Amino acid sequence: MATTPDSPILSLCKAGDDGPRRGAGRFRHWLEADREALAAFARESGEQAYRARQLWEWLHVKRADDAGKMHNLPASFREAVRGGGAVRSLAELDRRSSWDGLAAKWLFAAPAGGGTAAEVESVLIVEKRGERRTVCVSSMAGCPLGCVFCATGRLGYARDLSAGEIIEQVYRLDNHLAADSLPGVSHVVFMGMGEPLLNLDAVLRAAAMFANPDGLGISGRRIAISTVGVPEGILRLAESGVNYRLAVSLHAPRQALRETLIPAARRWPFDPLFNALSAFAASASRDISFEYSLIAGVNASRRDAVELADLLSGFPAKVNLIPLNPIPGYAGTPPPGAQVRRFRDILEERGVPATIRVEKGAEIGAACGQLRAGRIGRS
Ligand code: SAH
Ligand code: SF4
Repeated sequence: MATTPDSPILSLCKAGDDGPRRGAGRFRHWLEADREALAAFARESGEQAYRARQLWEWLHVKRADDAGKMHNLPASFREAVRGGGAVRSLAELDRRSSWDGLAAKWLFAAPAGGGTAAEVESVLIVEKRGERRTVCVSSMAGCPLGCVFCATGRLGYARDLSAGEIIEQVYRLDNHLAADSLPGVSHVVFMGMGEPLLNLDAVLRAAAMFANPDGLGISGRRIAISTVGVPEGILRLAESGVNYRLAVSLHAPRQALRETLIPAARRWPFDPLFNALSAFAASASRDISFEYSLIAGVNASRRDAVELADLLSGFPAKVNLIPLNPIPGYAGTPPPGAQVRRFRDILEERGVPATIRVEKGAEIGAACGQLRAGRIGRS
């Protein structure tokens, strides 16, 4: 994931047809269930209301990995919980730490959906001497959008993740911090695999659970959603009144150039995108971050910088410049450092705040957007 060392970056489920209620089992994943759903489940199981509170504790505070371990619940209720859905659904396949131990990447297997095996990656990054503990979470297994410089995009798409699977990623990494006697996750960024705004119901459910004061209690300002720029999703975020941070992966100041890097930009061109962003900026009254991966000879010239400044001037924008992480299968390379700094200076001189981001954990393929590169290419 791209971060600067010195800068920051649920009501779950009313059961619906495509929600967590499924067949005889009530939930796909118990971590998706909000307090009302747990209360209803306890009631229907013939239990008193305090059992729902105990179940919440087991799920969100003690993080039991099996219903059988919820020892203060009656055996019959434990069985009902087990039959109702999964408490855990991700199997750890691999874990790697960076040389300095400040970044770690997990590879999980999620249950196959429609016969498609789903591998999911999550990254934990510790910054500012441990003050900031960020999880970069995946919203999909793979991604259908195929940005040319993105390892995830080049590998294709298996399926969307459920809210429970998104929550579980963060809890599993938070458990790891606790095992090391470190404070819990302080920030969550939806910058892992997948396009969060194409799986927005699950993303919003998961984000609400992260913000729940009876769970992790992470302030909405410490939850960031990164999007390739899906106008409908941005408008929905604007209307929903949530206060999550928004990052937009722009990567080009011109439509034609953007389409060569992000094929999905044909579907979501600049005009509707910037109209939606204006609505978001007005509703959230806060800056929008624009991610710009610099690629030598492609989008990193003086002209590109000037055009980007023109495009964003007057907009409540800040730009994060990320020198490209080279990936197998794409010939692009990052520009030299001096060119990156010049690009930043041109933006700053024209009144657009810009930061150059350094990659943490790039050598373990933990940089967001690099996900799954390590397993396939053994980088
Ligand atoms: N799908 C969402 C979120 C995940 S990607 C999105 O595209 O915004 C997280 C960020 O990493 C995006 O800004 C993406 O464009 C960027 N990225 C992907 N591959 C990269 C690479 N090889 N080098 C630098 N940044 C990359
Ligand atoms: Fe998908 Fe984002 Fe990668 Fe593009 S950059 S392929 S939208 S994960």
